[in-house]
Amino acid sequence: MRGLMQDWPLTIGRVIDHAARIHPNREVVSRSVEGPIHRTTYGAIRARALQAAQRLVRHGIAPGDRVATLAWNTWRHMELWYGITGAGAIYHTVNPRLFPEQIAWILNHAESRLLFTDLTFLPLVEKLKPHLPTVERVIVLTDAAHLPANGCDAVAYEDWLAEVDGDFAWVAVDENDAAGLCYTSGTTGDPKGVVYSHRSNVLHAMTAAQPDMFGLSSRDRLLAVVPMFHANGWIIPFLAPMCGSAVVLPGARMDGASIHELLEGERVTCTAAVPTVWLMLLQHLDRTGGTLSHLKRVVIGGAAAPRAMIQAFRDRFGVEVMHAWGMTETSPLGTICSFKPELAGLEGEAWLDVKQKQGIPPFGVELEITDDDGMPRPHDGEAFGRLKVRGPAIARGYFKVGDVVDSDGWFDTGDVATIDPEGYMQITDRSKDVIKSGGEWISSIELENLAVGHPDVAEAAVIGVAHPKWDERPLLVVVPREGRTPTKESLIAFLEGKVARWWLPDDVVTIAEIPHTATGKIKKTALRDLFRDYRLP
Ligand code: ADP
Repeated sequence: MRGLMQDWPLTIGRVIDHAARIHPNREVVSRSVEGPIHRTTYGAIRARALQAAQRLVRHGIAPGDRVATLAWNTWRHMELWYGITGAGAIYHTVNPRLFPEQIAWILNHAESRLLFTDLTFLPLVEKLKPHLPTVERVIVLTDAAHLPANGCDAVAYEDWLAEVDGDFAWVAVDENDAAGLCYTSGTTGDPKGVVYSHRSNVLHAMTAAQPDMFGLSSRDRLLAVVPMFHANGWIIPFLAPMCGSAVVLPGARMDGASIHELLEGERVTCTAAVPTVWLMLLQHLDRTGGTLSHLKRVVIGGAAAPRAMIQAFRDRFGVEVMHAWGMTETSPLGTICSFKPELAGLEGEAWLDVKQKQGIPPFGVELEITDDDGMPRPHDGEAFGRLKVRGPAIARGYFKVGDVVDSDGWFDTGDVATIDPEGYMQITDRSKDVIKSGGEWISSIELENLAVGHPDVAEAAVIGVAHPKWDERPLLVVVPREGRTPTKESLIAFLEGKVARWWLPDDVVTIAEIPHTATGKIKKTALRDLFRDYRLP
């Protein structure tokens, strides 16, 4: 016997319909690429998204077509996600921080038919356009007054949109139809395209809203620093309207001062970004003596949140860090570190020890750790294993590649992790970054997290360097804080007692800057190249 409940497909249009119906005047505030702060509402976003969908259909965009965006977080980018999916097409976000050749490769692989971009990237698009045979038109997210003469026949978005009246209804799709396409940054081989569905995005936004996840409500004002071109924008463009939260979008400016101005001026209660952004904010607050008067929660993910950062937010500003783990393939939220009541009494270092873990999965994500042969490893908080995931918003394959999950449906994340008896997962490394010393594994991430706690260190990275006896030994690379000169002796002394003796780095080098990937993570491959011939003492 079947249930007798209604069939109500989980399609993306319903999210903005709900926001426009129940929270029509909730603000969407953006720092526009042109400069001034721009204010709109969910009611207006929905109206313009319908117009965009209608205009896309008039262009000939059909269900399943890819429509690319190479753009900052602004209201126009947000309404386009709804407009594109509302035309039955697929928003294809492209990361502008990638190399131009990679951008062209991704656009060609996706066969995107239209390219929406910001003024910032117009010079780049002009150069790339001759190499993008599938892109029929470039549309710049601005008005005619701001659009410069250009060599790629680009049109201003506002003019393009104004060619239709918005009297339109979402194109009907199946909830399992593709809605979004986002390529991983391709640290190994060519970038791979993750294809989200309407259903996976709606379910994932519901997952992210849970109290132990973002815990968002209509009383919140959420600053989405994490770019929409990074890992499905951490689902925020769907999550915030679903919860009726106001949303603040930083446009092209993500430096400490600009972010602080938005946090304070827009009374932001919750925000999300990678650690690099928060490092810049904390350094800005150090310099200016600024405060955070409204902020309650900051979700940090994409790379490990350093201990010192978690502490600084809590002790100096009364802000709770929610440490999260995920990846493009997990839509992206896989775990978040919220405290179960069993852990309520923890204080001091013991509290930090848990807080620094990436946390527990919500309903909708299953985790397992296994050895290289697929045998489960114990959940004792000590044993390392390959981290595998399953769930309705987790990739089973890649665009034009096909399925990659194993016969039990597990997706291998390429991360190495522990899981403790309470279910808290901790990333110890990426499988290719873990340092293999004498057959044992040393976690580069754990050493980095500890090293950035040293008062003279701004940023730290640990890589394995070839060693004749042990195969590999850890080398600690640090960027000093302004005006400080950390010594090898003081750093090693600082780490002593915090890790096993054989984990202590064999050497410490100071450099001016650590290379980062397009998504703000430490670029271990570049560091390894830099120190390929390094001779340990
Ligand atoms: P890419 O793989 O292209 O760099 P992703 O955003 O998909 O882009 O990166 C996901 C990876 O980032 C994860 O597999 C993991 O290695 C790392 N990561 C994400 N969050 C954390 C975290 N909180 N701590 C440590 N590593 C993290």
